[in-house]
Amino acid sequence: MLNIVLFGPPGAGKGTQSERLIEKYNLIHLSTGDIFRANIKGATELGNLAKSFMDKGALVPDEVTIKMLESEVNKHPEAKGFIFDGFPRTEAQADALDTFLAGRDTSITKMLALEVEESELRDRLAKRAETSGRPDDANPEVIQKRIDVYNAETAPVADYYRRQDKFHAVNGLGSIDAITQRLYNAID
Ligand code: AMP
Repeated sequence: MLNIVLFGPPGAGKGTQSERLIEKYNLIHLSTGDIFRANIKGATELGNLAKSFMDKGALVPDEVTIKMLESEVNKHPEAKGFIFDGFPRTEAQADALDTFLAGRDTSITKMLALEVEESELRDRLAKRAETSGRPDDANPEVIQKRIDVYNAETAPVADYYRRQDKFHAVNGLGSIDAITQRLYNAID
C-alpha cells in the first residue's frame, strides 16, 4: 500500500494537491476537515460537536477525530492506499494512526510537508473565503487562531515522522502544476 500523509498549515494546498495525487496513484482521499464539514451539513451529532471547535479555529478532540478517521479507513478494505489530508494534527493522532495501520499490516509510507510562509497563507485563505463558503476562512481572527494552533500543536508532528525517516519537505509556492510535479517526484 501507498499511504501518504499530506501535511502543511491551513492554506498550504493540501486539498487541491490531494485531488491530483489520488488520480495518479489510485488512492483514497481522507480529509478529516471535509468529513467534519459533511457531518455539519448533515446535522449529525458528530457535526454539531465538531462545529463548536471548528468555528473557533480549535482542534476537534483527539478521541473523536481518531475514532472517526479509523471508521473511514475501515470503509475501504480494498484500497490501494490512502492520502491522509489534515490528519494527523497531533502526536497522539500520529501514534494512534501508526498503531491502527500496524493492526492492518500496513504503515505510513511518507509524510509530504507542503511549506508555505505565513503571510502567503493568510492571503490564500482570505481569497479562498470568497468561494469556499467556510466560516473559518471568512474571519481573520479565526484564520490567525488556526495558524497558531498549527504552529503549537501540529508542526511538531513533522518531528514524529522525521524520527521514522519518513519526512519529506516540498516547496508549496509556485503554480499548482509545479507543486504537483514536486509531489510526484517525492513519491516516485
Ligand atoms: P481543514 O479542512 O483541514 O482546514 O480543517 C478544518 C477544521 O476541522 C480544523 O480547523 C479543525 O477544527 C478541524 N479538524 C480537521 N482535521 C482535524 C484533526 N485531524 N484533528 C482535530 N481537528 C481537525
